[in-house]
Amino acid sequence: MDNMKLVELVAPRELAVREVKVPEPGHGEVLVKIKACAVCTLERRLFTGETKIAYPLVFGHEVSGEVVQVAAGVLSDLEPGEPVVLDLLNRCGECPYCRTGRSNQCVNKFDPGLPVLGGMAQYIARPARQVFRIDPRVGFLRAALTEPLSDCVHSLMRTHLSPQMRVLVIGAGTMGLLHLAIVKHYGMFCAVTDMHAAKLEVAASLGADVTIDISAGDPRDALRDEAGLEGVDVVIVTAPGKEAVEEAFELAGTLGTIVLFSANPEGIMIELNPNSIHYKEITITGSESRTEKDFYQAVSLQNAGDMHLDPLVSAVFPIDDAQRALESSLDPALYRVVVAMDETAVEEFEAIGGV
Ligand SMILES: [Zn+2]
Ligand SMILES: [Zn+2]
Repeated sequence: MDNMKLVELVAPRELAVREVKVPEPGHGEVLVKIKACAVCTLERRLFTGETKIAYPLVFGHEVSGEVVQVAAGVLSDLEPGEPVVLDLLNRCGECPYCRTGRSNQCVNKFDPGLPVLGGMAQYIARPARQVFRIDPRVGFLRAALTEPLSDCVHSLMRTHLSPQMRVLVIGAGTMGLLHLAIVKHYGMFCAVTDMHAAKLEVAASLGADVTIDISAGDPRDALRDEAGLEGVDVVIVTAPGKEAVEEAFELAGTLGTIVLFSANPEGIMIELNPNSIHYKEITITGSESRTEKDFYQAVSLQNAGDMHLDPLVSAVFPIDDAQRALESSLDPALYRVVVAMDETAVEEFEAIGGV
């Protein structure tokens, strides 16, 4: 087999592009030529050193590509040349959570015996169960957003979402706007809050029914004035910090569900009034990662063709510029930064008007 390039994290804030042999797919595995790998919060934390791991590491888990080779033992009908997305989360299939359909909490997901991440490379070989066919019309750039979309599917499923519900998303970053895209796909009401007008404009362009600038006053007044609502049925907190959680408590209506989607810095504590939970029957839950079912559903949403995710890609860098890609991704004003493994994703970005 030929050689390929991959990106290694060799020390905090230091990436190296290396040449290695293209992996041979083992029994039951599919070899995929990666086209695009988006940079997620996990990669940013690993890059800065905020999250520590053994070096060197090939990170990257928001991946789209093309099937190159289907090894013996693959049961699905994947064919070379087909566009696919990869779900690079390890699930052991043996722990109590995996065995009860809640594999997002797999106790062995970071087991050193299993391959971790690996998306920042030109090729990857993984078991066919981690490889999902996606409609070619989605395009590789948008397809790379399937993994974060699947995390948002998981989050919304924590709320027992139902058509009459009204949803409010706190934070108009990538994860907030992916929640918005799903809610609007379902044809439901969705409000979005943020403190940056530019991000709220993007939310409006993606179909937000109401956008609320929390730096401009009490969001409860804005929700009442603009939507005639005293509270909403579902609040998704995609912004970190004490204020965002407190805002969720204020905006959740009777029988409302609050999902704490984003992680918080260590040490954040909140006070809550137990009577507001009691009388209004509020549910508070978290959301972590995704199951294979969530991933499958995210692929279905992508294939539906109405997700309009183009504004969520802010920049595309070729693999040789991975160092610059990771440095740029630390800018909070940007949505996803993508590393292109060949010219395909660069051309797709130009075609949607990106520079
Ligand atoms: Zn991700
Ligand atoms: Zn498990």
